[in-house]
Amino acid sequence: MAKIQTVGIIGSGQMGAGIAHVAALAGYEVRLHDVAADHLGRQVAKEVIDQAAMTAAIGRIKGAETVAEIGQCDIAIEAATENEEVKKSIFRGLTEHLKPETILASNTSSISITRLASVTDRPGKFIGLHFMNPVPIMKLVEIIRGIATDADTYETAVSFAQSLGKTTANSEDFPAFIVNRILAPMINEAVYTLYEGVGTVSSIDTAMKLGANHPMGPLELGDFIGLDTLLSIMNVLHEGLADSKYRPCPLLVKYVEAGWLGKKSGRGFYDYRGETPVPTR
Ligand code: NAD
Repeated sequence: MAKIQTVGIIGSGQMGAGIAHVAALAGYEVRLHDVAADHLGRQVAKEVIDQAAMTAAIGRIKGAETVAEIGQCDIAIEAATENEEVKKSIFRGLTEHLKPETILASNTSSISITRLASVTDRPGKFIGLHFMNPVPIMKLVEIIRGIATDADTYETAVSFAQSLGKTTANSEDFPAFIVNRILAPMINEAVYTLYEGVGTVSSIDTAMKLGANHPMGPLELGDFIGLDTLLSIMNVLHEGLADSKYRPCPLLVKYVEAGWLGKKSGRGFYDYRGETPVPTR
């Protein structure tokens, strides 16, 4: 099994910051790279720095100005925007800077690991490591092997996830894997019930929290995931499985077009700009 000591992360949004948080707490040296430097600073501050008990961990997280620094880590985890072209261009740009033994991972929620691996020089050392949001709280890491992923990479990835205190579940490399194959259509269906006027935002969320014992309502959960990410996942399912049951709700499309991406942008199915979230419909 490969030895992991340094963890490079590309993309420091909700997920990248969370992965940095748990990796640093587990004792790994972390290098974090994002195209939006201010986003990095803000996210590191919000997720990590303001927790007094984490002083030592914070010392292990450093910003990386360029992807070249990420390429020198033992594992490089891509956690950038859920868009196949963005991810492929990151992996293409990273490949020339990689040391031979570096393992590549993507935190994608839905995109083919085999296709992402194919743009690199090492499909055998490429794997899907799908952390859940919020990373410090959620126990699962879904592990997705591409068609070429080798046994050593798989074992190293499982052991790395376990070293972060996570439990793993394996999924085959099909659109949206297990969690989002089931979860994203459920949330999309909740948006359809809103779109068709079956219920309001609060009636839909209350119904599913108290009627199905879900800890969060589906619309609240959509806002928490990010509506742009949810729409991308639905598009991957729709295109990848060619079944109309996965068509994204037009109301979801409209929210994303408006830039109402959920909690991370301040507004989605709820408006988060005041003291308490207020339904937007
Ligand atoms: P986010 O919008 O919070 O963050 C994405 C970050 O990627 C941003 O900071 C952006 O500046 C950065 N980025 C974009 N292009 C880049 C590039 N070329 N190089 C470097 N950084 C770049 O999104 P998120 O919720 O953190 O999601 C990130 C990934 O994690 C996606 O693939 C998503 O599907 C996956 N994921 C999300 C969730 C969730 O619930 N939000 C859960 C599991 C996995």
